[in-house]
Parts: sequence; C-alpha cells; structure tokens
Amino acid sequence: DAKKNGKNRISKFDYKMEGSVRRRLLIEDLILNSLEQQECYLVYQTKIDLESNKVTGTEALVRWDNKEMGLVSPMEFIPIAEEIGFIHELGFWVLKKACLQWSEWKHLGYEPILMAVNISPLQFAQETFIDQVQNIIEETGMDPEFLELEITESSALAYKESTIKKLILLKEMGIRLALDDFGTGYSSFQHLNELPLQMLKIDRSFLKDIMDNSTQQSIVKSMIQLGHNMNLRVLMEGVEEQNQLDWLKEAGCDWVQGYLFSQPEKPETIVKKLLLA
Ligand code: C2E
Ligand code: MG
Ligand code: MG
Ligand code: MG
Repeated sequence: DAKKNGKNRISKFDYKMEGSVRRRLLIEDLILNSLEQQECYLVYQTKIDLESNKVTGTEALVRWDNKEMGLVSPMEFIPIAEEIGFIHELGFWVLKKACLQWSEWKHLGYEPILMAVNISPLQFAQETFIDQVQNIIEETGMDPEFLELEITESSALAYKESTIKKLILLKEMGIRLALDDFGTGYSSFQHLNELPLQMLKIDRSFLKDIMDNSTQQSIVKSMIQLGHNMNLRVLMEGVEEQNQLDWLKEAGCDWVQGYLFSQPEKPETIVKKLLLA
C-alpha cells in the first residue's frame, strides 16, 4: 500500500513538473514572435504629486496577449525573456514605443508629463545601451528631460564603476533615474549615495499592514527620511486605500502610484487623465 501511495505521489509530481516545464518552453517559443505578431502593447499608470494633487508622470508597463496563451503577466515572461536574451529586443521596443507615445501626446497638445520606462538589469548592462537610448530620443522626438528610467537595485547596486559611469552619462543627457522596488533588494546605503538618482520608489510590499503595524510605519518613515536626506523624491507604489494615502501624506511622501488613482490603462483611457496645455 505504501508503495502504491509512493508511486502515486511520484507520478503526480512528474505531471506537475511536466506542466510547468511545458508552459515555460511554450513561453520561450512564443515570446520570440510576440513583436512580429503584434501581441505586445503598453499600458500606462499615472504618478501623482501629493503637493499639487496633479498627474505629473506615467509609467509604461508592457503587456503580452498571445493567441494561444492569452494574457501572460510580465512577472512571468520578463524573467524568461531575460534568460533567453529576448529582453534586449523587447526592451528596445518598449522604450521606443513609450517615447513615441509621449511625442504623440505632446503633438495632441497635452501638458507634458514624465514618461517612466522599466529597464531590465541585462538591458542596462549592455554596452550599446546608452547609444540605443540616444538614438531612440532622436528618432522619436522625446525630450530627455521628461524621460525617466526605472532601474532596480540589482542593476544599480551590482556596483561597478562602469554602472556609475553609465548612470552619470544618462544624467548628463537630461534623463532622470528612479530606483524601483526600493527596499526589496540587498540595499547598500553606501553605494546608494553614489548613484545619480532623482527618485526612490518604495516597493508596494511595504504598504502591507501599514495601518496597523507601527514597526512597518517606522520603516517606511525611515525610508522617506533617507530619500529626503539624499535630496531625492520619494514615491510609494501600490496605494489602494484612502487611509494609506492619508498616512503617506502625513509621513511626507512626495509622489504616489496605485489603483486608488488608476490602474495601468491603455493610452485611450489614460489620456483622459492628462491635461491639455
Ligand atoms: P514594477 O515596475 O514595480 O511595476 C509595478 C507593478 O505593480 C505593475 O505590475 C503594476 O500593475 C502593479 N501595481 C500598480 N499599482 C498597484 C496597486 O495599487 N496594487 C497592486 N496590487 N499592484 C499595483 P505589472 O504591470 O504586472 O508589472 C510587474 C513587473 O514587471 C514590474 O514591476 C516590472 O518589474 C516588470 N515590467 C513590466 N513592464 C516592464 C517592461 O516594459 N520592461 C521591464 N524590464 N520590466 C517590466
Ligand atoms: Mg517600475
Ligand atoms: Mg516598482
Ligand atoms: Mg515591482
């Protein structure tokens, strides 16, 4: 009997394994054609300045809607795209598309706001990255002063002199840099100080229980303080409730992003939240 149960367990395990491996292989295979097949598009989520209560920026987030698999989350396909090297092509496409959108809004007469784009550590590490950004800016008519690159701690703090040099070059081009998912990586405060950043984006996991956990509150307050002491603006992502917003205002948070204000939306929808200049 025990033998039989054991066998069952093994076959169930194998079956599950096979399922996830197959899904992975399928994604590896299908994502390679996703751009040609026009299955990718960008959605935009607003960023709000708490002082003026205005939309001052928007973050581009990629979506992949495959015929066979349906909508696949970037949390699932970005790591795979990174592993198979497709992130370079995808990242290039995202940056260009976001800059084109910014230019289009400008031509339509909307007051310009920041356009933030997520940059994979691998994309950032590429030698040609700076040239790519430069070319895209020229081709699309993007004003670099309105371009913000969101990098994660793993790309910024995998501290190398070449990383810092690149960041300084981008800054000299007028581009802004935001540290995304702040607090989730292995922060080295020493190195943080050497990065030419303009903004810290506190990871939304820090909002969990914020209303009833005083330890969590002091951690977030400290992060805001740290940012301000380094002359950075601090944004809290993932704000879903009014009481969280009230608390963040009180704590001195500068900018917020989250479902309370808007979901990531298609350009046709988000444009209603922008102001005509
Ligand atoms: P991220 O850059 O930290 O983006 C924030 C994520 O939180 C987005 O998920 C967004 O939809 C979600 N979010 C925003 N507000 C709320 C909220 O109030 N509540 C909750 N529960 N979630 C909220 P999304 O779009 O699924 O993207 C997940 C991650 O995938 C992003 O995290 C980013 O790391 C990556 N990603 C997305 N688009 C791109 C891209 O174009 N390039 C690269 N390299 N990575 C991307
Ligand atoms: Mg981001
Ligand atoms: Mg983030
Ligand atoms: Mg994140």
